[in-house]
Amino acid sequence: MLDLDYRRLYDPGQVPQIMRDDLQTVLHDRARDLAHFRFSDGVRSMAQDGGRAQVTFDSGAEAEYDAVIGADGLRSAVRDQVLGRSDYRLHPLNLQAAAFTCENVLGLQNEYVAHLEPMRHSIVYTTRRNELSCILFFAPHAPVPGEAEPRLDYLRGVFEDAPAPVQEVLTTRARGALLYMDDLMQVRAARWSAGCAAIVGDAAHCLTQLSGIGASMAMASASALARALLAEDPASAGRRLERAIKPQVESLQRKTRRNAKWCVPRSGGLNALRAALLAGAPEAVWRFYFRAKYARS
Ligand SMILES: Cc1cc2nc3c(=O)[nH]c(=O)nc-3n(C[C@H](O)[C@H](O)[C@H](O)COP(=O)(O)OP(=O)(O)OC[C@H]3O[C@@H](n4cnc5c(N)ncnc54)[C@H](O)[C@@H]3O)c2cc1C
Repeated sequence: MLDLDYRRLYDPGQVPQIMRDDLQTVLHDRARDLAHFRFSDGVRSMAQDGGRAQVTFDSGAEAEYDAVIGADGLRSAVRDQVLGRSDYRLHPLNLQAAAFTCENVLGLQNEYVAHLEPMRHSIVYTTRRNELSCILFFAPHAPVPGEAEPRLDYLRGVFEDAPAPVQEVLTTRARGALLYMDDLMQVRAARWSAGCAAIVGDAAHCLTQLSGIGASMAMASASALARALLAEDPASAGRRLERAIKPQVESLQRKTRRNAKWCVPRSGGLNALRAALLAGAPEAVWRFYFRAKYARS
């Protein structure tokens, strides 16, 4: 077993931890007086005419806009209104992932613990609320169940003989609590805009959580699009966004596809090679790796 002490490899104090819910609350608080929010509704269809977009919502409401921006994530519905089916594809990394939080039953203190095994990779770290955040990557055994309880049973089956801390968090995780689980898929799109409509963030360029930088890139593409919209018309702004962000996204997606092979090696040979590299690499290599990774984010 290899034991890497992350505290010696980089200074965790330099990496702020922002939970998704907190970021969402901050963004909503800042925007609530600037925009009209429609909750529990979605875009059913969209048509463009004369540089404007006519939108019909699931609720039946209709409205016309100067620009429509789809920021509705990996399974974006707006993307199908902006792009044709041949303009993008969902590229599977042949991995599944699950994530949940639970009480700190392991007694960790500002720690990040990873267990790397053949076909499985588990990460457990403390949050600022002193809970445990758990992310599990694994080779697919079956399609991801739709409901929370069958998901938990599936996960417990996949990690049945995992190291004790992983089993403990899976036992602790309360039935009924939120449990994210999905296939890891990248969005690879030829373009991100058409006329006065565009897509940003995961809807346009999902990197998957394996990249560790999806939220940062979503913020970067939203910010680049906002700046472009201030300077020019929506059609040109969409194209400017692609020029500004696409090369970086494509490079990160390539890196993530390579990392996926090392995250959960599928063959005994690759697994043995990873174990040898992890055990043999001097600490200076890890220090360099973590500084470079977190300095980039
Ligand atoms: C387990 C996990 C851990 C991650 N960890 C990190 C990390 O440490 N660092 C990092 O940078 N990134 C991380 N990511 C990736 C990051 O969460 C995403 O890249 C980021 O959230 C993308 O932001 P987004 O706004 O484009 O999409 P999302 O965050 O997916 O938001 C899309 C929103 O659109 C809403 N929506 C969807 N469909 C509709 C519809 N039809 N109508 C109306 N609304 C709709 C959804 O409810 C959602 O609120 C992680 C992802 C996961 C799953």
